[in-house]
Amino acid sequence: MLLRHTPKEIKDREALTVNPAKTCQPIGAMYAALGIHGCLPHSHGSQGCCAYHRSALTRHYKEPVMAGTSSFTEGSSVFGGQSNLLAAIETIFTIYDPQVIAVHSTCLSETIGDDLPQIIAKAQADGKIPEGKHVIYANTPSYVGSHVTGYSTMVKNMAMSFAENTGRKNEMINLVCGWVEPSDMREIKRIAGLLDAPVILFPDTSDVLDTPQNGKFRFYPKGGVTIDELKLTGDAKHTLALGKFCSEAAAKELDARCNIPYTQLDLPIGLRATDRFIMSLAETAGVAIPAELTDERGRMVDIITDMQQYFYGKRVALWGDPDNLIPLVEFLVDIDMKPVYVVSGTPGKYFEKRIHEIADASVPDLKVKNGPQADMFLMHQWIKNEPVDILLGNTYGKYIARDEDIPFVRMGFPILDRIGHSYFPQVGYRGGMHLLKSILDALLDRKDRDAPEESFELVM
Ligand code: SF4
Repeated sequence: MLLRHTPKEIKDREALTVNPAKTCQPIGAMYAALGIHGCLPHSHGSQGCCAYHRSALTRHYKEPVMAGTSSFTEGSSVFGGQSNLLAAIETIFTIYDPQVIAVHSTCLSETIGDDLPQIIAKAQADGKIPEGKHVIYANTPSYVGSHVTGYSTMVKNMAMSFAENTGRKNEMINLVCGWVEPSDMREIKRIAGLLDAPVILFPDTSDVLDTPQNGKFRFYPKGGVTIDELKLTGDAKHTLALGKFCSEAAAKELDARCNIPYTQLDLPIGLRATDRFIMSLAETAGVAIPAELTDERGRMVDIITDMQQYFYGKRVALWGDPDNLIPLVEFLVDIDMKPVYVVSGTPGKYFEKRIHEIADASVPDLKVKNGPQADMFLMHQWIKNEPVDILLGNTYGKYIARDEDIPFVRMGFPILDRIGHSYFPQVGYRGGMHLLKSILDALLDRKDRDAPEESFELVM
């Protein structure tokens, strides 16, 4: 019992988080930056921070993650890190030759008040940024927000730094992508391709963090949205923002700077959210939905029909990032499961309101909480008081799964103890079918394990 000290009795906490359901802001900024082609992320802080950010991503994606660091010493911690960052920009462009350096701050550099735009302007004035190369930034103090906030800020600043409003509109549709796996980003592009809708997806980590093994090492993999594509986003005719927490800030930025209207959508996880995404994209592009997508939807509905008897009434506890949890809760309600406990460490009032709107009518005992005190400790306490049938969330749930002996499906970020998850999409109809199979397999494996000999069935 690794969590044997978790008490059943729940007390209000104001200033204590135990086993947070989130991680640090710069990890999100670094993941988003990797979605630009030829980008080298740079962590403006201590080496320890950068090592943590890189290792968190490497452990999840099982790919090397390159990044620079300003390598703060005691001196820079007191007097500021300007000289370190100026030296780093010069060294990185000289040795590693990226198209873009994406600098994010850390707790330390934010606390001492380093002014990233001023330092970058000085690097430009001093001729340390070569012609045609770029340095962008995101302020990511990790004592507020979460990795989701860091991702959102870096994506917004991509739009702020690159989008060009030339006054000549193009036919492109901006797809601002929330935090999903590289395979999900590939699947979103595949769906847009089937619709024949001209899109610019950003950020795009497909072919960056899931590169094929072909015997050649590429420091900058072939994937990622290009600078030219990011420039074109400023003349696009519309923006679809997928996942409010991660993508709305960028969509608003494009609207404010370049007058591009936007539609806020959920990430296309599950049946209805995928329907909404495909219909919005088809409508915006002025195209018909092809039979291939209609057939994919039909296959998904067919397996839901086959599986629904096993899902009915099953109590689910889930945790993770708000953009992923909102459509997931909707999907679980749609297949007659009961998402009773929902926790996210990312703050934002919209989350609890939206989950209640989706689930209140069918889950009367719903408990939902987000923000600093919405942690894995609270989730465990809820479960101790009233158990659930299955857990859905990142690797940090494995302690609860073991102690309470509950089936566990890993999803979200980070997954540190399994391999391959980032290659199988969860978005779209295909992703939804994969999700359904994972949940049902976990439930039926448990049923087999617990079945007495006389009712251990070959056919279930
Ligand atoms: S000090 Fe702050 S930025 Fe650095 S790893 Fe810790 S939480 Fe993240």
